[in-house]
Amino acid sequence: MTVSRSAAPIVNAFTVDVEDWYCNHFLEGRVPPSAWDRQPSVVRQGTEAILSLLAEYGIRATFFVLGYVADRFPELCQAIRARGHAIGTHGYWHHRPLAGTPDQFQRDLRESIGTIARATGTLPLGYRAPVAALDWPATWAFQAMRDAGIVYDSSVYPTRLFVLAGSADAPRAPFLTATGVWEIPLSVAEVCGRRFPLSGGFYLRALPFGLYRRLIRRENAAGRPVILYVHPWELAHGFPRLMRHPIGRLVQTWNLRSVESKLRALFEEFRWGAIEDVYRQVLAVPSPAAELPASRGAA
Ligand SMILES: [Zn+2]
Repeated sequence: MTVSRSAAPIVNAFTVDVEDWYCNHFLEGRVPPSAWDRQPSVVRQGTEAILSLLAEYGIRATFFVLGYVADRFPELCQAIRARGHAIGTHGYWHHRPLAGTPDQFQRDLRESIGTIARATGTLPLGYRAPVAALDWPATWAFQAMRDAGIVYDSSVYPTRLFVLAGSADAPRAPFLTATGVWEIPLSVAEVCGRRFPLSGGFYLRALPFGLYRRLIRRENAAGRPVILYVHPWELAHGFPRLMRHPIGRLVQTWNLRSVESKLRALFEEFRWGAIEDVYRQVLAVPSPAAELPASRGAA
């Protein structure tokens, strides 16, 4: 496992939801999946920026790749894999699991796994629901994951303050669901008895950064790793601003310029690894060296 320079004892999990700007939930009506092929893409630009940043700081991360992206840009998945990062699935069409039927979810999940396996030669161990919209307990969704060979899910946001989902009663710590699939919940910070989202994306851009860092320090001091996520389009430039929904526009465009400098500051101060590294013993996953062909090596 590779980590950043700080000597802090807790290793936090750094994750990337690999999708393009047009996969956004709030754009479904304006840019439906049938029009995705015609859109200018920034996923390669943004992912390569993230890969470079991670290489600079010697950090291994977990990339939850959208099946559609793996189909359109298989070489991008291969680049992620060749750098030694862990690969999970973000579904195929960026549909929220609970917005459709169990059968639709199962088909979408399996299609994404098959596509990612063809692109990378490896089966994803983890799943991240689009928009992190998997309200716990959602037993049928976890059953579908188990049947598809998924070892862990990292989608449940244990707070009601998340924009599109949230499970205020869900545990904050990782837990084993009745299906045998582990849940690694997204991070929250408790302030005045209320749980606030802390896992990145919009919250990394919107919260005062000094407060954000203090809350991560507090979580780590309590022995809790934080899970951070970013999207490639947050580190890319020039994607079309088609979003009209006011919340969607805020979430997609607010303070994008701050992301790289904030990530650099977080990489300097805290230790980071892939989910598979941070929770290796719990998940009983193989070491990075065992996951990769010997000739490719880890970044
Ligand atoms: Zn997503």
